[in-house]
Amino acid sequence: MTKSGRIKRFALPAAMWLIFETIAVTLWLTKQNIFYLFNFSYIGTSLAIGFILFQLQYKHARRVAQFLVGTYMFVYLGLICNENMQIEGFWYYLLTGVFEAATIHYAVAKIFGPLVFGRGWCGYACWTAMILDLLPYKSPQQPRKKWGFIRYITFALSFVFVSALFLAQVNHMERIMFWAFLVGNCMYYAVGVILAFALKDNRAFCKYICPITVFLKPMSYFSLMRVTCDKNKCISCGKCKKVCPMDVDVTDNSRKRENGTECILCFECVKACPKDAL
Ligand code: SF4
Ligand code: SF4
Ligand code: SF4
Repeated sequence: MTKSGRIKRFALPAAMWLIFETIAVTLWLTKQNIFYLFNFSYIGTSLAIGFILFQLQYKHARRVAQFLVGTYMFVYLGLICNENMQIEGFWYYLLTGVFEAATIHYAVAKIFGPLVFGRGWCGYACWTAMILDLLPYKSPQQPRKKWGFIRYITFALSFVFVSALFLAQVNHMERIMFWAFLVGNCMYYAVGVILAFALKDNRAFCKYICPITVFLKPMSYFSLMRVTCDKNKCISCGKCKKVCPMDVDVTDNSRKRENGTECILCFECVKACPKDAL
């Protein structure tokens, strides 16, 4: 490989690492809290490692990033530091008026970040998908159902739940939010696994139930990072659509392409394309 080829290959991991390092240093200095330096440096480095391994064609590159980030957030931030990083935690901090923990996490990973890296969170960091992706149905075995409306119900329920706790002025809110995190995650895993087997689709939970997609989908519509198709090379073999876990019509370059806001940037389509068209 030429020198410029090597530089191009590692430009994406380097850019990703720099973005996270900028966030880390900015939050560290503005919030006077060194935790942010550690937190975002760790996440940025983990993602960069995943991307570098991908460039080196390591089969499980994405899984490595998923486990490095997912277990850190779930085990360290959630279970050890008792931060509710679920959507309930976001509502909780928002209603408390505190720009900390879950609010910052949501702002970076799920609200403004998707304008740059789309649903990269869903492909490389989510601790729910980290487990679901281990199940046997990596690409869906059935046509997609029209059940996407359920995500709006779970989204509304999460807000109503936290608002009700605030209105009732219950004591020990921090403790309740920790238990909500534990119970919520158990429910997510249980529903996710059952749905994956019932519909023969690992990502069924992401497609129909996950409330976070209410933020992710509209923002990722404008994503800078997206897979596009070189029409001159494409022979319409359909392999890309067949392997796509999210049913995206990646051969259509328009932003309105079928399931375009579902793309998790897993690059399975790119790997499967026989003509290097993606
Ligand atoms: S859709 Fe929800 S559960 Fe699925 S990967 Fe994204 S955030 Fe995780
Ligand atoms: S296979 Fe391609 S289009 Fe489908 S989610 Fe992965 S990157 Fe996106
Ligand atoms: S796999 Fe490649 S060649 Fe086949 S339809 Fe998709 S983009 Fe075109």
